[in-house]
Amino acid sequence: MKATVLSEVGGRLQIEDIPRPQPKAGEVLVRVAACGVCHTDLHVVKGEVNFPMPCVLGHEVSGIVEEVAADVSTVRPGDPVVCGFIMPCGFCDYCARGRDELCSTFFAMNRLQGVLYDGESRLQRPDGSKLAMYSMGGLAEYAVVPATGVFAAPAGVALSDACIIGCAMMTAYGAVKNQAQVQPRDTVAVVGAGGVGSNVIQIARAFGAGQIIAVDIRDDKLEAARGLGATHTVNAAEEDAVAGVAALTDGQGVDIAIEVLGRPETVQNAFMMTRDGGRTVIIGVAPGTTTAAIEITRLVRRGIQVLGSYGSRVRTDLPEVITMAARGQLSVSQPITRHYTLDQVDEAYATLNRGDIVGRAIITMDG
Ligand code: NAD
Ligand code: ZN
Repeated sequence: MKATVLSEVGGRLQIEDIPRPQPKAGEVLVRVAACGVCHTDLHVVKGEVNFPMPCVLGHEVSGIVEEVAADVSTVRPGDPVVCGFIMPCGFCDYCARGRDELCSTFFAMNRLQGVLYDGESRLQRPDGSKLAMYSMGGLAEYAVVPATGVFAAPAGVALSDACIIGCAMMTAYGAVKNQAQVQPRDTVAVVGAGGVGSNVIQIARAFGAGQIIAVDIRDDKLEAARGLGATHTVNAAEEDAVAGVAALTDGQGVDIAIEVLGRPETVQNAFMMTRDGGRTVIIGVAPGTTTAAIEITRLVRRGIQVLGSYGSRVRTDLPEVITMAARGQLSVSQPITRHYTLDQVDEAYATLNRGDIVGRAIITMDG
């Protein structure tokens, strides 16, 4: 099969012919329809997030089930599916408590070693040398995914577009529901209206948020954010973002500020936009041990909560996102503005790196 291989930090994403992987117990082989172009892959390409190399990136996948292990009964060959980027082991303490997003097996095995839960990758070069898998290694024609991360795709939605459910929409949903706990009429600011941020906006709208302020540095992205439910926009390249949000909220700030970029200044800005008693939720991932300065007395005196949010509680949350997409309460296709073929994968990530992708780009495998 064709797969995208990254051999070294800063290297090109190259297409290689490698053996089609085989699912083992508890796993599903998916013929990939599409894989989303997420900034987290880009962090790995740039060495901002450490990951073993050579590897196959891509963690936001939809496709058709090709084969299942004998012990898998949740999906069958031929089923259209979407795959969550966190593939919970189902057995660790966190999984037992329903905190799939903290699955210690997933982080120890997949994120640190690039393998699945028997300690081996399913991907290798023709010479037998191993290729690390980032999640399921979805930038390829086929992907092996633990069944805990595989769900029936929503009816009535283009299967290729549905890939963005697996990271962008699932992550946005986890942040809005579990960490931000958005309630009807809450005021919300979303700092960074990119692939994930644009979904935070439409999910906040679906949860009944009142004012939704999109903050970005590009007018085209802010315009798209309005189409997804932003009621107001602030261009942080043209005005001070914190002052801009204050001006739109009678000087109060918002109940909930959600940061979706991962830079010290945008994390600080999100905190400074948060009103007394509110919540600052951070989704953005930053290089290594990057820190952001938080005013201690503001935090204390104003009772602000600062919360991190990683993915979501896959086994409970992903079916809810899929149901909302099937009912048309969330749009899967609207945030997608560009389609690339697998051969164009390096160009797709270069375009994301330049900040030139409005919403989400996806890679479709059949061209
Ligand atoms: P993206 O590149 O599509 O979006 C980033 C957005 O930030 C862009 O629209 C860009 O124009 C905007 N931006 C740049 N500078 C800005 C500024 N100074 N102020 C406001 N906006 C600014 O990226 P993405 O795929 O949406 O990912 C965003 C971040 O979320 C990344 O760090 C990624 O690693 C992280 N992420 C985290 C999770 C999680 O589970 N926590 C999941 C997916 C992605
Ligand atoms: Zn992602």
